Amino acid sequence: TLPPIQGAVSFESIVFEYEKGRPALRGISLDVAPGQSIALVGHTGSGKSTIINLLCRFYDPTEGRVLIDGHDIRGVTLQSLRSQVGIVLQDTFIFSGSIRDNIRFGRLDATDEDVERAAKAVHAHDFIMKLPNGYDTEVQERGSVLSMGQRQLLSFARALLADPRVLILDEATASIDTETELRIQEALKTLLQGRTSFIIAHRLSTIRHADNIVVLDHGSIMESGNHDEL
Ligand code: ATP
Ligand code: MG
Repeated sequence: TLPPIQGAVSFESIVFEYEKGRPALRGISLDVAPGQSIALVGHTGSGKSTIINLLCRFYDPTEGRVLIDGHDIRGVTLQSLRSQVGIVLQDTFIFSGSIRDNIRFGRLDATDEDVERAAKAVHAHDFIMKLPNGYDTEVQERGSVLSMGQRQLLSFARALLADPRVLILDEATASIDTETELRIQEALKTLLQGRTSFIIAHRLSTIRHADNIVVLDHGSIMESGNHDEL
């Protein structure tokens, strides 16, 4: 079991091959302090998602280790890892059910007040209250009740409620209007506060605010630094 963590993450000389002889990552070393935000950028196929896959233990490294607070994640239970490493995917996952259930997902112990507090913190409360039945409004997995921006805010509320020390975010590329964009930026700031975060970043504003921008190229780190340094 992974004990309660601060959120230090280290990739130690990671090599990873999905197929033998074709490395997707070719020796990645990266140390991230608790609370730091990392933006992963790079061309398609450069290895961004693969880094995330290893951190979530969807795969194990071919060589090297991934450590969280010094614990090799291969040695901990998936359940204890998943409770402290959260992920918000690009196709923000909405299931058929009420808005409340969608935010509460994975935190069944959360009260209605907890749900609303999380929604308010990421500025989702106002649009939810305008829906026909507020938090009890039923949404469909592929329904059109919610805009892309609203879906994103819901997934932020869910992540905030889950409260993982390490948060992984695959930023949506869908185009959204400027006002929603601003709201999402603010919500993101709230969500990342005090957490270690890895963001596959598509928005310039996100990249600009990251503590460390890691530029990947063909499975290697080409350069890294903050926005002023690069
Ligand atoms: P994108 O911006 O398109 O999402 P990415 O930076 O996330 O790209 P990865 O998905 O990490 O890139 O892919 C890195 C390399 O691994 C690529 O060469 C890709 O073809 C290969 N790859 C990714 N997933 C698999 C898989 N499931 N099986 C085999 N090869 C894969
Ligand atoms: Mg990817």
